[in-house]
Amino acid sequence: MYKLIVGNWKMNGLGPALAEAQAVAAGLAGSLGGSLAGSGVRIGLCPPSTLVERMVRSLAGASVLVGGQDCRAEASGAFTGDISAEMLSEAGAVLVILGHSERRSGYGETDALVAAKVEAALRAGLEPIICVGETLAEREAGRAVAVVSTQVRGSLPQVLAGRAFSVAYEPVWAIGTGLTPTTAQIEEIHAAVRAEMSAVLGASGTRAPILYGGSVKPGNAAEILSADEVGGALVGGASLKSADFLGIIAGAG
Ligand code: PEP
Repeated sequence: MYKLIVGNWKMNGLGPALAEAQAVAAGLAGSLGGSLAGSGVRIGLCPPSTLVERMVRSLAGASVLVGGQDCRAEASGAFTGDISAEMLSEAGAVLVILGHSERRSGYGETDALVAAKVEAALRAGLEPIICVGETLAEREAGRAVAVVSTQVRGSLPQVLAGRAFSVAYEPVWAIGTGLTPTTAQIEEIHAAVRAEMSAVLGASGTRAPILYGGSVKPGNAAEILSADEVGGALVGGASLKSADFLGIIAGAG
C-alpha cells in the first residue's frame, strides 16, 4: 500500500514561503526521490487558500500534490469568507484536509458536517484527508478508541466506496505540543480506525491509507511510519521548513 505524507501549513505562508515548497520538490527530484523510487510514496502540501494556485504553478512538473485545508459543503452561495471544493479544484488543488481538530473545536464542525464536506470534495474531484482524534480528557477517561471510532463512522459517507481518500488519526493533545503517543497507542487506534472503515465501506475501507498526525518530526518519523497500519503522516509545524519536511519524508524510505 502506498504511503501519503502531507504538510499542513495552516494559516502560515506568504509568497516567499513558496521557496520552501520548491525546495521540497527539488529534494524529491534529487537523491531522496531516487531512494523512494518504486516505494509508491506520495507527497502533498496544503498551503493557505491564497497560495494554492501559486503553489500549483510554481511546482508545475514536480511530484508534489497540492491541497486545501478545508472546504464548504455547498458549491457556491452567500457564505462570506468560505471556499468551495470546486474553487480549490479550479485553483489546481487535488487534495483537501477535512475535519481537522482545529476546525472541529474552533468552528464546531460535527461528524455530519465533515461527511457533507467529504461529499463536496468528491463531487469536485478532490481526494479528501479526513481527520479524527481524541482530546487528552477523552484519552485519560479511557475513551480514545470509542471517540475515534464514532468520528470515523460519522465522518465517512458511503460515497467514499471506490474513491481515493485517506483518514488521518491526529490525537488533539499531540498536535503542536511535541507530545506523541507510543507506537502501541498509535497501532491500537489505527487498528480501530481500520475496523471501522471496513465496516462502513467494505473493501474500499481496507485499502485507503490511515495517516498519523501530531508532532511528527524528522527524529520520530521513521519509527511512526513503520508502525502497523500507519499509511503516512499529516505534518503541521515541521512541514513549514523544507529541510524538516524532507527529513520526515526520508523516514518513509
Ligand atoms: C496538524 O495540525 O495537522 C499537525 C499534525 O500539527 P503538528 O505536526 O504541528 O503537531
